[in-house]
Amino acid sequence: MSETLYIAKELISKKSITPDDAGCQDFLIQRLKKLGFEIEDMPHGKVKNFYAKKGSNSPLIVFAGHTDVVPPGPLDKWVSPPFEPTIKENILYGRGAADMKTSLAAFIVSIEEFLFDNPDHKGSIGLLITSDEEGVATDGTVKVIDALQQRQEKIDYCIVGEPTSSIKFGDTVKNGRRGSLSAKLNVKGIQGHIAYPELIKNPIHAVAPAIDDLVNTVWDEGNEYFPKTSWQVSNINGGTGATNVVPGNVEILFNFRYSSSVTADLLKERVEGILNKHELEFEIDWQHSGQPYLTEKGMLVDIISSSINEVCGFNPTISTTGGTSDGRFIAKLCDQVVEFGPINESIHKINEHVDISTIDKLKDIYKLTLTKALT
Ligand SMILES: [Zn+2]
Repeated sequence: MSETLYIAKELISKKSITPDDAGCQDFLIQRLKKLGFEIEDMPHGKVKNFYAKKGSNSPLIVFAGHTDVVPPGPLDKWVSPPFEPTIKENILYGRGAADMKTSLAAFIVSIEEFLFDNPDHKGSIGLLITSDEEGVATDGTVKVIDALQQRQEKIDYCIVGEPTSSIKFGDTVKNGRRGSLSAKLNVKGIQGHIAYPELIKNPIHAVAPAIDDLVNTVWDEGNEYFPKTSWQVSNINGGTGATNVVPGNVEILFNFRYSSSVTADLLKERVEGILNKHELEFEIDWQHSGQPYLTEKGMLVDIISSSINEVCGFNPTISTTGGTSDGRFIAKLCDQVVEFGPINESIHKINEHVDISTIDKLKDIYKLTLTKALT
C-alpha cells in the first residue's frame, strides 16, 4: 500500500469531530520526531495545535492544515461507516478523506521523501496543524499565528492543504480568499391589527424597498484577482403566525463576500447609508469573520503551478473563490500563502471521498514544490 494512503486511512479512522483531535496530531508528531522536527504543542482551550520545525535557515516553507472534521450526518446514508476508511473501486471513503486528512498524509510523506533525497537542502520546513478549522476557528491557527507573530517568527512560504481542486485533480490553486462580513438587521415597526393600517407601521413593507436597493447596489467591480463583491440575504424572520397581525419587527440576516477593492468599514457605512435613506428605524449587529487575503503571482504560485504541471500535465487555474480558510490568519505573517489539495466536490457531504489515484500525485506535487523551494 502507498505510505500516503496508509497515513490517510489511519487519520480517517480517528473520530476527530471538531474541535476534537482524537489522537491525529500525536500520530503526525511521532512521524515528525523521527525526522528530527522540533515540536511545540500550542493548545488553546479544548483545541490542540502544534507547530513543528526542522532547521532555522531561511527560506522557511510551512505546510498548514487541520485534523478536525465536520460531523458525519446520518450514518445510515453512508456507503460505509464514516470513521472506517473503506476503499471501493479505487475510491477511498470516510469523513475527512478530502477535507483534509489526505493532505495531512501527503504533507508527511512528501517531507519524508524530500529529506531522504536531499539531506543537505537549504532553508527549513515547518508544519502548523490545528483541530479548530471546521468549528468557530477562534482557538486554532489564529492563536498559533498570534504567538509566532509575538516572537517575530517569519514564514516565507505557506501551503495550506485545503481541497481546492474542482472538477479535475490539480485544476485549481487558491492564492487568496474573499473577505466575509455578516450582519443581523432588526427593523422596527408598530405591531397591530391588519384592519387598522392607520395605527400600525409595517416593518416588512418598510424594509422591502431597502432590500431591493441593497440587492441592486454594485459594491465594486472586483479586480484582477477577485470577483465582484456579492451581497446575499440568508434569512428573513418576521410575523406572529397570524394572518391578521402586522409584526412589530422583522429580522434579516445577510452576508457579504467581498474583494480586496473594498473594506469591511466601507461596506458597513454604505449599508447603513442605504437603510437611513429609506428612513428605517433599525438596529444592526455586524460580525466580521474574515479579511480578504491575496498572494500575488510570484515565486510560490509559480513553483506550485509548475509542480502541478509536471505531475498532472496541465497548468492550474489560480483563483480566490470559495469560503474563508485559515489562509486569512497565516497571511498576517507570511506574504506568500497558497492553498492546494484534493477535489472538493464531496467535502462536508455524506460519502466524502477521494480518488486513490490522486493521493500520491498530491504527495508528489508537495514534494516537487519543496524541492523547487529548498534546493
Ligand atoms: Zn478544510
